[in-house]
Amino acid sequence: MSLRFHNTLTRSVEPFVPLDAAGRTVKVYTCGPTVYNHAHIGNFRAYVFEDLLQRHLEYRGFGVHRVMNLTDVDDKTIRGAREKGVPLADFTAPFKAGFFEDLRALRIKPADQFPCATDPEHIARMVAMIEKLVADGHAYQNDDSSVYFRIGSFANYGQLAHLNLEELRPSGRISSDEYEKESVGDFALWKAHDADDGDVAWDSPWGRGRPGWHIECSAMATALLGDRLDIHCGGVDNIFPHHEAEIAQTECCTGQTFVNLWMHCAHLMVEGRKMAKSFGNFYTLRDLLDKGWTGREVRYVLLAAHYRLPLNFTFEGLAGARSALQRLDEWQQRLSELAATAKKSESHPLIAEDQFAAALDDDLNISAALGALFDLVRDSNRAMDHGEVSPEQARGLLDYWEQINSVLRLEPEAAAIPAEITALLEERTAARTAKDWAKSDTLRDTLLKHGWMVKDTKDGTKLTRAGG
Ligand SMILES: [Zn+2]
Repeated sequence: MSLRFHNTLTRSVEPFVPLDAAGRTVKVYTCGPTVYNHAHIGNFRAYVFEDLLQRHLEYRGFGVHRVMNLTDVDDKTIRGAREKGVPLADFTAPFKAGFFEDLRALRIKPADQFPCATDPEHIARMVAMIEKLVADGHAYQNDDSSVYFRIGSFANYGQLAHLNLEELRPSGRISSDEYEKESVGDFALWKAHDADDGDVAWDSPWGRGRPGWHIECSAMATALLGDRLDIHCGGVDNIFPHHEAEIAQTECCTGQTFVNLWMHCAHLMVEGRKMAKSFGNFYTLRDLLDKGWTGREVRYVLLAAHYRLPLNFTFEGLAGARSALQRLDEWQQRLSELAATAKKSESHPLIAEDQFAAALDDDLNISAALGALFDLVRDSNRAMDHGEVSPEQARGLLDYWEQINSVLRLEPEAAAIPAEITALLEERTAARTAKDWAKSDTLRDTLLKHGWMVKDTKDGTKLTRAGG
């Protein structure tokens, strides 16, 4: 059966049809973090879901071109920088670096590009898009000098969120101390500079100011992926107004359908409640690692619930992940021991059908996919008990596990060496072969900075996690 996904736009599960049927490269945009603090596990639920989507598309033979933005200028980042008394870029830099560390810990495949909203070429593109919207009557500069999108000018406004435009109109007279927009739903494309912004401002035809959050994503998505995307993802809380606004601005600029398939993942709760600092149930990934849980265990919990169902994150669930992973590790260990004498790989009747991938084809039905995997673990363990698995078949089962694991990425912690680390290690090996000891030492120090220790032994080079 073919791939099919739930489209927020139509509220139905549809067959997946890529824009570029021949090239088979799927263009995916995923809204990234606002770097004013460390991302919390609710944010990471969305990023793990997007990782599963990308890896399954790749499993099915598609190439994926994925872009994830970093929002490094908005109300929250500016407020944070002001409170700390540092320039905006200095304030956001450690959170950007921390985000990439967290992605590694959770084994999330990095996007092909991570544009930042403050990159000069993206600011220029935002200004150009707003100029076009103003020229075409879709936007206007208000008395407060900010520029707003005129939602009444876009007939499909409200379509993604399934909102009635009438509901967005004020029922009575709205008066505001500062200004009046034409419609209460009109959103800011360009925010005029005010004292709270400090030195965070760019020149524009409407005076100094800064972009609104929504136009940031429209500009970066179209700059890097083109006017039309296959898939745009985010959390359900992004649907309105953020994604609704992205559609309106972008389509009014390009005259084309912006996105074919909108996919959104549901909320994450912690211990049955909305996650909030005031409830004492607010966790970043770092908080969980500090408590002794591993990135792989957290990944398992975030991965194992269907993305469209609310996920109740609990410590019991983490403990459950730990024992599920132990079962997988023991199974692979047993298969590896049996396969040690195998000369080749042979299929086993238990894997005649790829039920794992078939389940994911159905709107990423991870519950059914993991169900199929754990049935295989149980049945093949039983078959090994009865001597019904040859070494060659054990090798075949391991090969199948490798395939599945290219999507799940649940291998034991020690084996998870990030690609960039492997690349650095290979570069160092090459330097040693060339007897370039200075370069070899520099690369050793670079690896150490990334948290990896290199030891040269008589059996070759060994790589271990520094400090553990
Ligand atoms: Zn976005």
